Amino acid sequence: ELASLMNVSPTEVISACFSLGVMVTMNQRLDADTLVLVADEFGYKIEFTDTEIDAAAVEEDVDLEETLEARAPIVTVMGHVDHGKTSLLDYIRKTNVIAGESGGITQHIGAYNVKLSNGQKITFLDTPGHEAFTAMRARGAQVTDLAIIVVAADDNVMPQTKEAISHAQAAGVPMIFAINKIDKPNSNPDKIKEELSQMNLLVEDWGGNIQSQEISAKFGNNVDVLLEKVLLEAEILDLKANPNRVANGVVIEAALDKGRGYVSTILVQKGTLRVGDYLLAGKNHGKVRAMLDERGKPMKEAGPSTPVTILGLDGAPTAGDKFKVFEDEREAKQIANKREQLMREQSIRTQKHITLDEIGRRIALGDFKELNIILKGDVDGSVEALTDSLQKLSNDQIQINIIHKAVGQITESDVLLAAASDAILIGFNVRPNISARDLAEKEEIEIRSYSIIYDVINDIKEAMEGMLSPEI
Ligand code: GDP
Repeated sequence: ELASLMNVSPTEVISACFSLGVMVTMNQRLDADTLVLVADEFGYKIEFTDTEIDAAAVEEDVDLEETLEARAPIVTVMGHVDHGKTSLLDYIRKTNVIAGESGGITQHIGAYNVKLSNGQKITFLDTPGHEAFTAMRARGAQVTDLAIIVVAADDNVMPQTKEAISHAQAAGVPMIFAINKIDKPNSNPDKIKEELSQMNLLVEDWGGNIQSQEISAKFGNNVDVLLEKVLLEAEILDLKANPNRVANGVVIEAALDKGRGYVSTILVQKGTLRVGDYLLAGKNHGKVRAMLDERGKPMKEAGPSTPVTILGLDGAPTAGDKFKVFEDEREAKQIANKREQLMREQSIRTQKHITLDEIGRRIALGDFKELNIILKGDVDGSVEALTDSLQKLSNDQIQINIIHKAVGQITESDVLLAAASDAILIGFNVRPNISARDLAEKEEIEIRSYSIIYDVINDIKEAMEGMLSPEI
């Protein structure tokens, strides 16, 4: 962009940067100072317009340690289809548990908060599954603190169980296994624990450090013990936020309601949100006219880890969009309009994802230490063989992580994981299905297809060698 503005070639700009001691690639955004210096080299003076407001306005400010207070853990439930995710969430929602409250939560707003009899709270995201989880991450929103992975004890560790595990691990989110359906006569929890151990996942009663709990989501057995374990795990994470500041957080879901206008469920991550606050959420904005809790009761304020439904935005933001309260209404509107415009202009700010060709250049910058790979293949044998060979390519400078491997087509969930974890997607004798291909195009994820093991190894090796001896 800068090169074309100054009517010079991109390489000239890059070498000007190098001569200033700034190592850059073609697609990199330069900071304000560098822009000024580089432009100066070519005899131009830079004037900043308010396009930069956006970046500045949404910048994260850091809270001082002494302002932080404990907050409730935010939990996502994942696992293979029919293993009992919905049943577990429903059971917790309906029975629980809110001290002093009668009746369960009847409506679905995308997230809910439960209070255990000891007074501690847990927030559940009520859209089960790793797709929703990773879609949020791909939008840059890390919401979940802990993942409950549900595995049916009358079945096996299944493909989507493995996916869920990979997705949680890629996000660095600790897992707790809920081994479900133990009321069934043919259930065999030990078999599940053994299968997990074969994946190097050792649960506590097998001598490991991953918590697990046998439950029946349908009848509610041991669900309370599971929740205690969630709190135990959360304690280790020492989750804190500053409640005494203007609020920010993430959009969980949003829709247009006939009577009430746009209704959005948001999760406050920092600060306290109040009725009357002026909000920017994605490309939408508006004054909070009303706030409701998961029971439909009006609320005046919502602190960290609290999900609330709000009325008053001028549209429906997307799940995973960040929101932020603005003291200056005009500023919020300006940014919202600018975002809208940017999106229309084919979003200049879409994140650039890694490609094999890019690796060499990225490593030259010195910020590329790990190469994440997602591997899908037609048979188990070749997936394992490839995993082995690829991992062996790791060296002192670059660590190769196979963040997910499985037999089967490349799916949307793989593309989302690649987007969220900046990974290369490799298909060995398998292709993406149509929806995965469309999503990959949209998210700008590179999918590489191979049918010869040697070619995969060779390409990665070459990319890495590019990494190791960059051509400058
Ligand atoms: P999801 O696809 O993971 O959300 O699974 P669901 O919660 O929809 O459960 C799938 C089926 O398993 C339903 O018919 C549930 O009634 C049943 N189910 C879930 N948990 C249990 C359980 O603990 N015991 C028994 N017997 N059935 C269960």
